[in-house]
Amino acid sequence: MEKQDIIIIGGGPAGLASGIYAARAALKTTLIEKGMPGGLVANTEYIENYPGFPEGIGGPELAMQMQNQAMRFGMEFKNTNVESIKKMENCFEVITEDGSINTSTVIMATGASPRMLGIEGEGEYHGRGVSYCATCDGALFRDKDVCVIGGGDAAVEEALFLTKFTNKVYIIHRRGELRATKYLQEKAMNTSNIEFKWFSIIDKIEGEATVKKAILKDTRDESLSELSIDGVFIYIGTKPAANLVSDIVKINSNGYIVTDEEMKTSQSGIYAVGDVREKTLRQVVTAVSDGAVAAVSAEKYIEKLADK
Ligand code: NAP
Repeated sequence: MEKQDIIIIGGGPAGLASGIYAARAALKTTLIEKGMPGGLVANTEYIENYPGFPEGIGGPELAMQMQNQAMRFGMEFKNTNVESIKKMENCFEVITEDGSINTSTVIMATGASPRMLGIEGEGEYHGRGVSYCATCDGALFRDKDVCVIGGGDAAVEEALFLTKFTNKVYIIHRRGELRATKYLQEKAMNTSNIEFKWFSIIDKIEGEATVKKAILKDTRDESLSELSIDGVFIYIGTKPAANLVSDIVKINSNGYIVTDEEMKTSQSGIYAVGDVREKTLRQVVTAVSDGAVAAVSAEKYIEKLADK
């Protein structure tokens, strides 16, 4: 493939928005995604707070519309895995499973992946009752009792989604107060088949062929109790996917890529957008904003390179 102006790595909203702005500015733009486009949004049933959709919009549909929009302006889409990024003189070599591509700039839109609990039974029952994606697996638990671990927006939103299929959803949270926004908290508190297990963590997941129960530990006195459930949905936050550039750009102590307001990292020519970036609000609306800013920054950088 000929040298690109911009290679975007990751096809969530941040990467797709970068693609729309870059391709529309007539820059040679390729977006590389190893899985399905959409990132975490593609695993979200409904997005209620993205402006312009008063009734909400399905996550997969929003992602597909963004991809179509970028491709209409000429963005190339490559479905492959990026193995490494090498810094060259005035450009970067992006090495993928299907060959290498040179590019003037790279936009890291690699997002974040679900964090694991690291408890006994979690790995053993993954796919047999343990899940990190209610949108993908919720329908398998029709009329069953399940639990969701975590107290943030993701946990509460997915617990609400699970109530549509299941008999009962327990929200297991390690403190006595949720981290989720008030709106979601109120919705959950007013849903009859959600029950909260406060000051609790899961100590162990047990079952036979599939999950049958969770052993809960009280975080105040460490006492143990049993909860009969068929599914465990884990939503305890995410971890950034910054490995590709962790030795060439500045990373903070939690693993997120540090950028300035123009999405520039500590390495000229590399930008970071969306959930992989150090920021205070991780939402679709802030991801797409990052994407637009990075594409415009990259465009200015490419113009300067051409003037040299
Ligand atoms: P989060 O906000 O970091 O919440 C993680 C939750 O898991 C917290 O309640 C935390 O407890 C709990 N937790 C962490 N480690 C744990 C452990 N080892 N054992 C038990 N519990 C543990 O993560 P998130 O909910 O995935 O959200 C990530 C970002 O995306 C946030 O910025 C969020 O606002 C955003 N988001 C927004 C929406 C929306 O607006 N609709 C939807 C999804 C996500 P503590 O509270 O005690 O720390």
